[in-house]
Amino acid sequence: MIGSMDLARLQPQLFEDFKNILQSDRMNHAYLFSGNFASFDMALYLAKSRFCEDLQNHLPCGNCRTCRLIAAGEFSDVRVIEPQGQVIKTETIKEAMRNFSRSGYEGASQVFIIKDCEKMHINAANSLLKFIEEPQSDSYIILLTSDDNKVLPTIKSRTQIFRFPKQLELLVRAAEKEGFLKDQAQLLAEVAKDFEHLKQLMQTKKLVDAIPICQRFVLTLIRDRQLAYLGVAKLAVLLTEKNEQDIAFQWLALLLSKNTSNPNRMTDLDKVYRAHQMWKSNVSFQNVLEYMVIS
Ligand SMILES: [Zn+2]
Repeated sequence: MIGSMDLARLQPQLFEDFKNILQSDRMNHAYLFSGNFASFDMALYLAKSRFCEDLQNHLPCGNCRTCRLIAAGEFSDVRVIEPQGQVIKTETIKEAMRNFSRSGYEGASQVFIIKDCEKMHINAANSLLKFIEEPQSDSYIILLTSDDNKVLPTIKSRTQIFRFPKQLELLVRAAEKEGFLKDQAQLLAEVAKDFEHLKQLMQTKKLVDAIPICQRFVLTLIRDRQLAYLGVAKLAVLLTEKNEQDIAFQWLALLLSKNTSNPNRMTDLDKVYRAHQMWKSNVSFQNVLEYMVIS
């Protein structure tokens, strides 16, 4: 679990901002956090500030029983909602809002954290809006999303938005610490959303194996078509899942954009872009890679 020391390291600017907000007692009733990098940890930090038994100058201690229960997800007045499958059901939000207003009238504080809030059904979002517009005095909603462009405008206009930038260098260093070479660590970090995701990527052997193949593919694309075809065949056998194939496209684009010695860099980048689009409209991974080599 990430503590406040880590928040200061992972999001130094935002951590300062929120410390100021808490210390001047200006916490809003509804926030939208865009970007995955330590945003859930910041949401928990804000939640702790509402319940901590040992506040230090308005900031949560992180050590008392309540702070630890919140960190463990076991504190009943801090509720975390996340999608089941691809959607957050309307009933889930409605039920939570019912409990919410009940306790609000009783004067107890409540914090409601919704992960991947762009996956709320529009009806769910509407139930939530009613609450955001007439907040109970001591209740708070923190919405999390990887990308606020996907969030309904009605929600965005009624929340205060904070963006959580990815700290690429920290991810690169974490991958290097696990034994990856600089250029491979860089590629892993570029596609990782956060530390948890990076760890997953590093443990997925076929993705790790795909890195040198992508690196060679980009070189052979320029110098040797026969070898490039070989690379296509290897990638197609190795990367069978959609999400893995998506990462391969990102790597190819990154590698091409960095290869400044390639005189056809822009054309090749354009080919990757078009191949990626074709793949998104359901042409097979192998076919679009072959198209890149031929064209
Ligand atoms: Zn505490």
